[in-house]
Amino acid sequence: MLITHDTQCALDVLVDLLNTDPDAGGQEGLPDLAALRGFVVRHEISEIGTLGTEDLAAVRRVRGQFRQVFLADSTRAAAELVNALVARAGSTPRLTDHDGHDWHMHFFAPNAALADHLAVEAGMALAFIVVAGERERLRRCEAPDCARVFVDLSRNRSRRYCDSRTCGNRLHVAAYRARQRTATDTPDAMTPTR
Ligand SMILES: [Zn+2]
Ligand SMILES: [Zn+2]
Repeated sequence: MLITHDTQCALDVLVDLLNTDPDAGGQEGLPDLAALRGFVVRHEISEIGTLGTEDLAAVRRVRGQFRQVFLADSTRAAAELVNALVARAGSTPRLTDHDGHDWHMHFFAPNAALADHLAVEAGMALAFIVVAGERERLRRCEAPDCARVFVDLSRNRSRRYCDSRTCGNRLHVAAYRARQRTATDTPDAMTPTR
């Protein structure tokens, strides 16, 4: 799959954002403005002014809408959601080489609020995925007690869990225990019931 470094970065930001959602199976990962500021700093999101409580509410709202893109059951549904997100935020595509980076595109409007910035940049990254025919790589973790999302960038689209070190392992342990149980149950199962 051909995706640019910038698209990859935008997707990383988006997945991190989506997994702060309590709907992803954990606690609210953006409980306050300090957490939102931490998110901006961690991902080096550029051109963000002073953040207020309205930004927190708006980012959470956009987060919920992007989560629906990952859960969408058709490409058409995903495309409509992405279109709506980008249209509402308003975009201004332009070339930039800020902060010593190579020339790259910014799609968010100058002075855009953080939620609009995220909506446009992540929305465009998802648009490229859809155009590449790779929408099904936007996944929800298959572990039964996990609702985190991820982008499957594996060559053969075989990734099933958000993080193989946690969810994948947890399932292996569960499968092992189930086998152990079956092994101890076997003598009983073999006893003829008359
Ligand atoms: Zn940039
Ligand atoms: Zn998971």
